[in-house]
Amino acid sequence: MKLLIASNNAHKVREIKEILSDYFDELMTMREAGLDIDVVEDGKTFRENAVKKAMEILEKSGFDATLADDSGLCVDALDGAPGVYSARYAGEGHDDRANNAKLMEDMKDVPDEKRTCRFVSAVALARRGRPVLVVEGKAEGLLLRAPAGENGFGYDPYFYYPPLGKAFAELSAEEKNSVSHRRASLDALRKALDAEAASR
Ligand code: IMP
Repeated sequence: MKLLIASNNAHKVREIKEILSDYFDELMTMREAGLDIDVVEDGKTFRENAVKKAMEILEKSGFDATLADDSGLCVDALDGAPGVYSARYAGEGHDDRANNAKLMEDMKDVPDEKRTCRFVSAVALARRGRPVLVVEGKAEGLLLRAPAGENGFGYDPYFYYPPLGKAFAELSAEEKNSVSHRRASLDALRKALDAEAASR
């Protein structure tokens, strides 16, 4: 079965192809398939957005299997914000720098012990004639007060990961990919596919 990956983000696509290549005959991105399908991400949860994207793209692309993900940062002291608004926390059309500046402003009076947060990734696999599989993965961390490291993207410079004693932006791509929320959700998807195959 051919899998269409509903993302053109090079980092995500490389990770997805590495982790799921055993499960599909071919994996390709929308760009590689010559498709340009836009889906409005207006769900209240990461899961809702991932499922919506996977199902709409399944219908519009004609592929038999599509994989979509949605991810973001949830900060406990902000009741889970930025959450599904992570990409546009500072407003539509704003970039990582503006989003991080807003987050630091919102968190400036929050003491160290209350700066717990997590990255969350939801992944949905839609296939013709089968129920959608949707799973979630998390990476638990602490929100820094000043950026650390130059790697990664988004909130990575402010996300301190205690098990490795570094911010995500201080990790190499390989290190981050081995512990990330996306790694956890893709591993959970592998498990769900294995369980499905075993029950057939
Ligand atoms: P999306 O899943 O591509 O829609 O990502 C949503 C937003 O969440 C991104 O624009 C980033 O701000 C944030 N985000 C998701 N995953 C990561 C990550 O691994 N590192 C840093 N920021 C992330």
